[in-house]
Amino acid sequence: NSALIKQRFEEKIKELKLDEEVQVVATGCFGLCEEGPVVIIYPEGSFYARMTVERVDEICEEHLLKGRIVRKYLFDESAREEKIKPLSEVEFYKKQKRVALRNCGVINPEDISEYIARDGYMALGKVLTEMTPTEVIQLVKDSGLKGRGGAGFSTGMKWSFAAPNQADQKYVICNADEGDPGAFMDRSVLEGDPHAVLEAMAIAGYAIGATKGFIYVRAEYPIAVHRLEIAIKQAKEVGLIGKNLFNTGFDFDVEIRLGAGAFVCGEETALMQSIEGKRGMSRNKPPFPANKGLWGKPTIINNVETLANVPQIILNGPDWFKSFGTAKSPGTKVFALGGKINNTGLVEVPMGTSLREVIYDIGGGCPNNKEFKAVQTGGPSGGCLTKDHLDIPIDYDNLTAVGSMMGSGGMIVMDEDNCMVDIARFFLDFTVDESCGKCTPCREGTKRMLEILDKITEGKGTMEDLDKLEKLAVNIKETSLCGLGQTAPNPVLSTLRYFRDEYEAHVLEKR
Ligand code: SF4
Repeated sequence: NSALIKQRFEEKIKELKLDEEVQVVATGCFGLCEEGPVVIIYPEGSFYARMTVERVDEICEEHLLKGRIVRKYLFDESAREEKIKPLSEVEFYKKQKRVALRNCGVINPEDISEYIARDGYMALGKVLTEMTPTEVIQLVKDSGLKGRGGAGFSTGMKWSFAAPNQADQKYVICNADEGDPGAFMDRSVLEGDPHAVLEAMAIAGYAIGATKGFIYVRAEYPIAVHRLEIAIKQAKEVGLIGKNLFNTGFDFDVEIRLGAGAFVCGEETALMQSIEGKRGMSRNKPPFPANKGLWGKPTIINNVETLANVPQIILNGPDWFKSFGTAKSPGTKVFALGGKINNTGLVEVPMGTSLREVIYDIGGGCPNNKEFKAVQTGGPSGGCLTKDHLDIPIDYDNLTAVGSMMGSGGMIVMDEDNCMVDIARFFLDFTVDESCGKCTPCREGTKRMLEILDKITEGKGTMEDLDKLEKLAVNIKETSLCGLGQTAPNPVLSTLRYFRDEYEAHVLEKR
């Protein structure tokens, strides 16, 4: 549909002989998926939502030719009466701060010159010509940037573990194997701003002494893969990826590796196995990848969103990055807001923003005036939080303290009609399917949990089953080999903790 809209704009603009003045640029996602496809016309910044091919001619004739905004198609209802507000003042964007998403929806991701015009590759130039690798690592450490893929480990620290290791080859991996149901943060960054990730990988390579990078991306993201391929090609053509970057003698090459959709391949040791051409299965740590990673060589693995922050941190400094967010979790976090929410979409907010602000002020609350019941943060590895948690400032520690987690940033909202036992069952079903089968607690234990949940949802459960379920969940959490199994019971545990009455209702109904 977007391609047809773009095509019609181009045809109509030509027809009206405006093609010397007006340019149609395809960008990445601007965040407001619910209202898509969107078209923004500059310099006014008129934000036309829910665009259709049929609306194009009217917008061209009225707005582009006669300078009259077609108010009935504007996204911001108040702007239909008054002046067009800058997007930063539109309710959906007001509380957002775009760092990782700064170029998404703004530049043409298939044109490197647009990225360069927005200070692109300046951070790489700066580190290569003005800084030592140790200084780069220190700067990233000082910024307090933590891995946005879920674990929340200090990025600078991770780099510092790999840097001193001597090896004939080291690697930088970008983990773009976004597998959580409902999550599309990494996909949007790659589709909207692929060069930011390439630039950050080269910076990381310089910092740890790696000359080779791999982007491990899901094959189910064809647009992201296509734009990455274009970005790598263009960066190589102009000498920003490849040999002797900025005439400093530093070489850095990047290749794409496609994942086949196994959730476990988002786990770093399984991901590396997959890049090596083996079946993606987790292994014990240590050895950590920084010491023995891809093909046994020192390797760092960073998630897409983490990397997208790096060039801005280098250019603006650690104090700038720490000027928003919380003391323990500086910066912003991107969330994919979905489920029973009015404004489905991609949002980036400073850490410390409350769940209430994200769900109500940005998300617009639940549709059809239904009551909010719960929000699942952290995808299948996370937990369900309730109304009582709405004022918690979002950061890694706060979400973990109440039995959920940041995860990579999926946020699924549920309303009064959702059955929390069904929700827990849905996520567990997903992790049972995705277990790699290597260790018994995860392979067998999650299946047994699912059987109990089936029994409960079919009205055949007993109160003893609830206790059994809880014990099993705790055991699996404590004894599984990798993060998948260690977090798989979270949706069950958090719903048992906060919505036990719903489990009991299922059990008691049969009496
Ligand atoms: Fe595989 Fe699950 Fe064990 Fe991880 S916890 S190694 S996914 S079986």
